[in-house]
Amino acid sequence: MQDTTLQTIIDRFFTCNKSELLEIFNELLSALQTDGVHNPGGLMSRNYETAQANPEIHTLTGNLRDARDAIFPFYWGTDEWSSKLHLENVKGPANYASLIGSLACLLKNPNLCIDTYSQRSNELEVKAITALANLVFYNTDSPWGIFNMGGTISNLYGGKIGIEKVLPQAMTRGLQGARLAGIVSEAAHYSNKTLAGWLGIGTDNLHAIRTDSNFAMRLDDLENKLDELYRQGVRVAFVIATFGSTDAFGIDDIDAIRQLIDEKAAAYQVPKPQLHVDAAVGWILCVLNEYELQANLFGIDDEVLPVIEKIQKRTKALKYADSITVDFHKMGWGHYPASAFIVNRREDLRHLLKTLEQVPYFCEAEFRHDPALFTLECSRPAIGPYSVMASLNGIGLRGYQVLLVHALEMAALLKKRISKLEYCKVLNVDTPGTTVVWWVLPKGRNAEDIFDRLERGELSNAERERYFREIRHLFDKRSTDLNPQIDARLSFTTAIGYSPQGVNIPAWKAVFFNPKTDRSVIEQVVLSIEDL
Ligand SMILES: *Cc1c(COP(=O)(O)O)cnc(C)c1O
Repeated sequence: MQDTTLQTIIDRFFTCNKSELLEIFNELLSALQTDGVHNPGGLMSRNYETAQANPEIHTLTGNLRDARDAIFPFYWGTDEWSSKLHLENVKGPANYASLIGSLACLLKNPNLCIDTYSQRSNELEVKAITALANLVFYNTDSPWGIFNMGGTISNLYGGKIGIEKVLPQAMTRGLQGARLAGIVSEAAHYSNKTLAGWLGIGTDNLHAIRTDSNFAMRLDDLENKLDELYRQGVRVAFVIATFGSTDAFGIDDIDAIRQLIDEKAAAYQVPKPQLHVDAAVGWILCVLNEYELQANLFGIDDEVLPVIEKIQKRTKALKYADSITVDFHKMGWGHYPASAFIVNRREDLRHLLKTLEQVPYFCEAEFRHDPALFTLECSRPAIGPYSVMASLNGIGLRGYQVLLVHALEMAALLKKRISKLEYCKVLNVDTPGTTVVWWVLPKGRNAEDIFDRLERGELSNAERERYFREIRHLFDKRSTDLNPQIDARLSFTTAIGYSPQGVNIPAWKAVFFNPKTDRSVIEQVVLSIEDL
């Protein structure tokens, strides 16, 4: 080749030019700091037609500035979620310790597939997984796990182990016409449908058990469903319990579910289903495991202390889980992707080994060095471990306790304020979490009374539809009228995860993720409701 571009490419793109990189990082950081001050405006965002019509790439070799220019408008047009007025859904700001970890990871770009590709980064993954396992399982002897791209995939690992447990060698022989089922609650995340579909069980065979008014799986219904399925000869591969439902923060009774599924499996002489816990959001409650309520060193509100007592009871039951989903990119305030799938007992990973013929024994060394032997993925990013260890050690356990308690206090305050308005009704008063779901009806209506009648089945369809329309209409009205400088953005859900009389209940929703969200934000939310 006579072309001399190769050397240019090496110099510009494969040689670390520190000052140039720092300058560009500096520009990106400066743009970040204008977030909320200079808004990019709606015009340049989400222009999908233009995006599709202009996919061209440069022909000639450019430089790092061309790289920056190619992405800058999109970076600029992406909301950074740092504003304390963001109370929508499960997405908070990522913390800067996580940024340090994630950047370090990107600079070396390790591949966790096998440790010869990454050396000590695999060791960091073991450390991060064990740190999280100790938090969630509390006392555990042989936890193991891996990071992957999201709670969906972590849940999928749990489901897959369950299939292998009740239908050995499904990995090699397929489902062979066996009738398989999975069980979740009606408050479960939709990712469980995804995995039921992708794993070949079929979404029709994923059974959603009704919840009680605290958004927890009803044990009587679970028992009936297990009896029904086992009598029909169906193999129940997994029960995926929810620990912190996405909308209302419902928490399933892990201890009771464990007992029930073990009893039923013994009675019908079938292998036990996998008890996987989807704690994608709720795992963070575990940081309060050892907070001493008596001493109350943080001086937590008297009204919030009982919430923490409840949390401590709930988190203790996690040790009965076979496996768990922990999304650090949610309430760990870490960067994507940082979801951990963790098993309580390492032997369970045996069910995922690619080819049992090729790996006839379950050798510890294989696990340590070659996660790819059992992972769904081949190449795997290390952002998770770097984000987790940088965040946990930067912010510290005590720091995480403070962050969580603040969020709990804000949720409790909003619940309290809203409960005072008779045309409003908080729908998750007793769930010990960081989300609030509630109704806002026109002034003059008695929300409590309407809810009671709904639960008892005394509302006609027409009445119900009218009330639900009003709730939605008032939400839309507030969204249209809101002043972006002072009014928080809220979410709306069409089904909170509790369906008395089979009715999906809509609600307004606020999620307390952002540590900057303070009392004044909540007072303003309440004012904006009163002004509707
Ligand atoms: C967010 C969420 C998921 C999905 O996790 P991703 O990381 O977004 O894939 C699963 N379960 C629950 C309860 C969640 O809140």
